[in-house]
Amino acid sequence: MSRSVLDGDTNTGDTDSETRRRGEMTYDYIVIGGGVHGSAASYHLSKSGAAVLMLEAKTIACGASGGVGYRGVRANARDIRELPLMRIAYEIWPGINDELGISPGYQRLGGLELIGHDVLDDASLRDELETRVKVQSAFGIDTRLIDRAALDQLEPGAAASVGGAIYCPDDGVGDHTEVTRGYARAAQKSGADVQEGTAATRIEQTSAGYAVTTSGGEVHVARKQVLVMANSYSRRLLHDSFGVDLPTTLFNPQMTPVRTKSGFAFQHLLGHYSLPFAAKSLGDGSVMLSGGRTGGWDYDNDAGFTRAEIAERSVIDAGSLYPEFEGAEIVLTDASRPDSKCVDDIPIIDTVPGHDGVLFATGWSGHGFAIAPAVATLIAQWCTTGQKPVELEPFAFSRFPN
Ligand SMILES: Cc1cc2nc3c(=O)[nH]c(=O)nc-3n(C[C@H](O)[C@H](O)[C@H](O)COP(=O)(O)OP(=O)(O)OC[C@H]3O[C@@H](n4cnc5c(N)ncnc54)[C@H](O)[C@@H]3O)c2cc1C
Repeated sequence: MSRSVLDGDTNTGDTDSETRRRGEMTYDYIVIGGGVHGSAASYHLSKSGAAVLMLEAKTIACGASGGVGYRGVRANARDIRELPLMRIAYEIWPGINDELGISPGYQRLGGLELIGHDVLDDASLRDELETRVKVQSAFGIDTRLIDRAALDQLEPGAAASVGGAIYCPDDGVGDHTEVTRGYARAAQKSGADVQEGTAATRIEQTSAGYAVTTSGGEVHVARKQVLVMANSYSRRLLHDSFGVDLPTTLFNPQMTPVRTKSGFAFQHLLGHYSLPFAAKSLGDGSVMLSGGRTGGWDYDNDAGFTRAEIAERSVIDAGSLYPEFEGAEIVLTDASRPDSKCVDDIPIIDTVPGHDGVLFATGWSGHGFAIAPAVATLIAQWCTTGQKPVELEPFAFSRFPN
């Protein structure tokens, strides 16, 4: 049996003594996947007093929730159905460093979505922007359309083509690896049995609940529910176990930390209205450039690979917006982390049809980190009360014919 290396072996799960036989344990919940979603859900469930087993195939944060740089914690320009989740997440993020004992963890820097003069001067596009500002504000997301002078106060040095920005002061960045490991450690401290190096290979309904078979051949039983939080690997596991086919695919954005000649770095989380541009300063003088362009995936070896032209394109785009980035040195480029992309670009958070005891959450489409604290809180609430929170309704699997 593999054990977590996070904090040593501190398995204190409230398991049935009669099933403490080697290779077979009974828990209230079995969570599959040790990314930010699985770790945070395990934390909230174990904090509520439930006996929780979290199985991670490799190591905590080895998937989309780990790796180079930071993740954007952004409400701006998000699908409108995710805004109620971000409203909740906005409340949770500022306390997360203390709650999980991490640093720097989360930083509320404010976010700026740059907009060109060409867009701001176009009446219909400006109308569209002003409408988005109004709608986001109505959802409780502080959102302001600012002009060039205000942008210069916040983030000086933009190219002449930049006319202003949408500014969300409550947006920010998070160290995803730290947050994920922090949640997993907190889950373990609350009594969860966290096992790394242990993949779930099959889930089956039994008279005692749901049985999860592991790569080591053990079979564990969840009395209440199994939570499938394996991100891009959930599709396969759910297909093999229940025959359902999720409309999700693998998606691996390419991240490129760079260093400008002068050491120029941004003070805010940056994005752009029409260019695939996003930038996060990493605190060591480098700035991570991304924006949604993806690397390639070698399906035979289950590994991502980078494309040189994407790293170069990222530098060119950054230089066109902030000339300080012209000729910036590429520190590294990475496309090794797979997220899951849903066909309609919002997640699916639901139970498997006909199996209320199996809940899954996947299809984050490149923006699942920022909402994770809210999603985990709501999923734990759903599990422990049996009532599906209204904020999760838009993410039902039933929106697809199946
Ligand atoms: C490069 C990149 C940049 C991103 N940028 C942002 C951003 O700026 N803002 C934002 O909000 N979001 C962003 N995202 C999205 C966000 O990081 C992900 O949506 C989120 O981390 C997904 O978390 P997860 O726990 O569902 O998945 P993961 O972190 O992938 O965790 C799933 C885990 O399940 C494990 N697993 C798989 N199969 C099994 C099995 N059979 N048994 C046991 N374990 C299994 C895997 O090993 C993995 O550790 C980005 C994603 C990537 C890849």
